[in-house]
Amino acid sequence: MFTDKEKFKIEFKQRLIGNSGRQMHEVSEDDVYAALGSMIRERIGQDWAATNRAYTEHGERQVYYFSMEFLMGRLLGNNLLNLGVLELVREGLGELGWDLEDIEEYEADAGLGNGGLGRLAACFLDSLASLGYSGHGNGIRYRYGLFEQKIIDGHQVELPDYWLQKGNVWEVRRGDKKVNVRFWGNVESHEQNGRLVYETKNGEDVWAVPYDVPIVGYENSAVNTLRLWSAESAADPTRGFGGNYYNFLDYKRSVETVSEFLYPDDSQYEGKLLRLKQEYFLCSAGLQSVLRTFDKLRLPHDRLADKVAIHINDTHPTLVIPELMRILMDEKGFGWEDAWSIVTRTVSYTNHTILSEALETWPEQMIRELLPRVHMIIEELNKRFCASLLEQYPGDQERVSRMAIIEGGQIKMAHLAIHGSHSINGVAALHTDILKKREMKDFYELYPERFNNKTNGITHRRWLMHANPELENLLEETIGSAWKKQPDQLNELLKHTGDAVVQEKIRSVKRKNKERLAAYIHKKHGATVDPNSIFDVQVKRLHAYKRQLLNALHIMDLYNRIKENPALDLTPRTFIFGAKAAPGYYMAKQIIKLINNIADTVNNDPQTKDLLNVFFLENYSVSLAEKIVPAADVSEQISTAGKEASGTGNMKFMMNGALTIGTLDGANVEMYESLGDEGMYLFGLRIEEVEQYYREGGYSAQGIYNSDDRVKKVLDQLIQGPFCQNGQSFDSIYHSLLSHNDEYFVLRDFADYAQAQEQIGIDYRNTKLWTEKAILNIAKSGRFAGDRTIGEYASDIWGIKPVGVGSRLTTR
Ligand SMILES: *Cc1c(COP(=O)(O)O)cnc(C)c1O
Repeated sequence: MFTDKEKFKIEFKQRLIGNSGRQMHEVSEDDVYAALGSMIRERIGQDWAATNRAYTEHGERQVYYFSMEFLMGRLLGNNLLNLGVLELVREGLGELGWDLEDIEEYEADAGLGNGGLGRLAACFLDSLASLGYSGHGNGIRYRYGLFEQKIIDGHQVELPDYWLQKGNVWEVRRGDKKVNVRFWGNVESHEQNGRLVYETKNGEDVWAVPYDVPIVGYENSAVNTLRLWSAESAADPTRGFGGNYYNFLDYKRSVETVSEFLYPDDSQYEGKLLRLKQEYFLCSAGLQSVLRTFDKLRLPHDRLADKVAIHINDTHPTLVIPELMRILMDEKGFGWEDAWSIVTRTVSYTNHTILSEALETWPEQMIRELLPRVHMIIEELNKRFCASLLEQYPGDQERVSRMAIIEGGQIKMAHLAIHGSHSINGVAALHTDILKKREMKDFYELYPERFNNKTNGITHRRWLMHANPELENLLEETIGSAWKKQPDQLNELLKHTGDAVVQEKIRSVKRKNKERLAAYIHKKHGATVDPNSIFDVQVKRLHAYKRQLLNALHIMDLYNRIKENPALDLTPRTFIFGAKAAPGYYMAKQIIKLINNIADTVNNDPQTKDLLNVFFLENYSVSLAEKIVPAADVSEQISTAGKEASGTGNMKFMMNGALTIGTLDGANVEMYESLGDEGMYLFGLRIEEVEQYYREGGYSAQGIYNSDDRVKKVLDQLIQGPFCQNGQSFDSIYHSLLSHNDEYFVLRDFADYAQAQEQIGIDYRNTKLWTEKAILNIAKSGRFAGDRTIGEYASDIWGIKPVGVGSRLTTR
């Protein structure tokens, strides 16, 4: 394996020619990517094998992070970074005439997730490996990831994301490790040694084939595994199907749909049978593989929890609870009580949302038919749980109904998850508080010791070092490199807040990143963007509660004010949006169209185009985020207080020196705790005020419309005016605000938001002041590194310590 640049170049040239079968002057950038990828993948293979050996020999507890989503993004750059060869490869390739950044663009962005939840899982994998923990991912290898978004005439159009088209150098198919997953069928029982044994007969069998992706730790030789399951037909095509080949093909097609695509709904529950199949497929396959690894230790199964921790990312993998019960009882011979003790000591659960529309409930009938034995176990669990509740709260039948796992023919997955886990955590202090005090109050009273907070974090390796290498260099020059392994050391930068030289360098880094993004926008939109303007960014899934609409209405208002007073002294701004809407989410799609109409108007009006520009960048994804985040001056985190569980976008921007305009919601609360009024622009209703409105009423959107002329004008412009090109109007948005009394308090927060924005415009001109705030943000961002979060999960929930791997022991 290469150890220096010259050796790399020699090895790479050989690989390139060998791989592509072309001569050096004939190869394409595609070939370069493929050759480099395979070379790096092989290098990882050595450490991967050693890591697995070390984990088996150590025999310590291993964590399996079960998640329906892993929003990984591209892996080449991050693998090079974590292997410690990024610079060497960049230079070597450069000398051969290729730009690494261009080569990285050839990798498909692995979009196996919707947004924050899936990206969190990806950041956690990076931190687990980098801290030397034996923690692995378990997910689904969707053939189609989250749809690709095109904007056509201002509307979102969804295209399939066939990310595997060009192959995937990082994955390894492990055909020998496939397992069987059984759906449908009927449960039969017989007596064996004095107890009833259950078995599902006549089911439909599906093979789950694992594809393993190595997860490389940062400069520690550790390589963990992300195991993604693919559904394949189990049948031997030469037998059965009444000799009818077409019957076989129908069956094959139906089986393969199980891992065909990711459901594109974010924070929104859809009770589709295929989705239920996916969830069980993940749980059943994942558990079988976990147990197979455990069996290598040759320990009795009542020791399972000592060696295995299963973490479920939201309720989507909750079926691990009844499924593990099934395996322990039906296959390993445990009685109910012993099996339950093993399950609850093994499983822990993260709650991600309090939005009622996102809470999973499945019709009992659907589970009974698709998973008859699992249904029996859930029924029994519910019976026992309700009986114990009645004992604890005699006569309180109402409480028992509220807390039941099955109620009104629906199975409540959150209740099942809480009852079957030893730990339940929220994802930011405020969110955990709401869980304890309101949403899951009954459960908190029953199991207070199970509830805890783990504020989300992001990997500073991808979001700072890889996305913003210039900032990385500046930090290294200024405070050394201790922060790379201990991100809380970023606070060393505080000593340099007032240093004029550092300030100038910070501005120059931001400037370069803005120029780079401007060039990207120019390429995509053909538009010229002024890097002197404030880059004001809102990128995240499109959702009513995230209030992209508040931002949009404010831009309309700015436009109106310039038109009314052309001499208005505004600091020039470039508003940048990026957001995918769930394909069936009408209101969200209308908001996308509105933003694009606003862009059309303000960017082309000679009176406003030098002061206001709006761009909606299509197909927001991890790789696009990596281009946008380092270039932002202002980060929009403006959800209705109490609705955003944590947010992680907020943290990425903070770490890259953008200033946040935000509500006291999710992790913004903790950011504000660290930053104070100097470091952040807070506005809007507090959660108590929002709750009071919900409880007592008293909010009138119409009242604000009637009394605030600016609001009135903007709302009327949703029906006709400069933003309603070609007779288009936004009646549904208008009515959601006025007829439906503005559920998310957009109008209520409008004036306060506009004022905070005005202050930003003023402060931005004071470059010294602004840079000091930016430095403060970077310096305080270590608290929001995923390494901090994973350290807390490891010690408080999983009870694991780092494992020394290979030559470079991870001792921290
Ligand atoms: C970080 C990230 C998110 C989450 O952003 P929020 O602002 O926390 O909602 C969503 N999508 C992508 C691609 C991300 O990188």
